[in-house]
Amino acid sequence: MIKSPHSKIDLHSHTNASDGFLSPIDLIDRAIENGIDLLAITDHDTINGYLIAKQYLSEVKHTHSTIPLTLIPGIEISCIWNDREIHVVGLGIDTQNSFLKEQLEAQQSKRVLRATLINKRLEKKGIIGALNYVEKLTQGETISRAHFAKFLIEQNYVKSMNNAFKKYLGKSGMAYVPPQWMTMENAINLIHHCGGLAVIAHPLRYELSTLKLQQLLVDFKTLHGDAIEVSQSNQSHDDMVKLAKYALEFNFMASQGSDFHYFGNNIELGKVYPLPDDVKPIWQSLAIKEYNT
Ligand code: AMP
Ligand code: MN
Ligand code: MN
Ligand code: MN
Repeated sequence: MIKSPHSKIDLHSHTNASDGFLSPIDLIDRAIENGIDLLAITDHDTINGYLIAKQYLSEVKHTHSTIPLTLIPGIEISCIWNDREIHVVGLGIDTQNSFLKEQLEAQQSKRVLRATLINKRLEKKGIIGALNYVEKLTQGETISRAHFAKFLIEQNYVKSMNNAFKKYLGKSGMAYVPPQWMTMENAINLIHHCGGLAVIAHPLRYELSTLKLQQLLVDFKTLHGDAIEVSQSNQSHDDMVKLAKYALEFNFMASQGSDFHYFGNNIELGKVYPLPDDVKPIWQSLAIKEYNT
């Protein structure tokens, strides 16, 4: 029997410190409304949203002590494996770690540089003002291609996020700039260095052949990666079963998370199928009590 796709545990979400639409405070309010018990904020290459959310949640809990929400410090690191862009989520990281701060600053500088190059390519196509718009929108926080997509939609160059990536920002797009992220090995080591667990985000979204996906899993295992995301929002039940099989085959723990950026496209905080019984849920290995303050 297929259970309903709602869970009290969501270990992949974004705020407007990266390319999420909600502020950290609004994200926490939504998590409370949705009855989430365990939430990880995993912004792209930044912990700034988490820090604001953590402060807010501790204030809310001070006045409403029955709120069951626990917030896990997390990150989604953009990295390179075999010339491909892969996202590795880190859960339970020490956000005060100085090496982490240094490495995230380096990723942020690469994002700023990439943004100027994307802007140049767009200008060559007669599209003016993108960088200006994106800088105003992000206010010094993470610049993502999703922000460029928003500009292209608002200026009527494309009708949807997907079209923006197809036509301009994705690998075959006119304004594509190959990223210079850290290697997957460095991303895993960085997460471990900060006491966290390393998770391959949305393994089926990289458009890898079965063989390549298995190679990714082999390499991730060899590099001491800990888990893969098995359950996501907007995912077929068959895909979840497929990923659960991989988790068992490669002896990875299993994570679940909506990858919430904004409400829509069948994506909502906590909207994930519960994990199958035979996989090992990653939250059993997170020091949850430590974060429950
Ligand atoms: P970036 O981190 O700058 O490489 O931007 C990638 C982000 O854009 C992802 O995290 C997604 O949230 C968003 N996005 C939306 N549609 C797509 C798409 N078709 N391909 C890749 N990323 C997409
Ligand atoms: Mn994103
Ligand atoms: Mn991702
Ligand atoms: Mn994500």
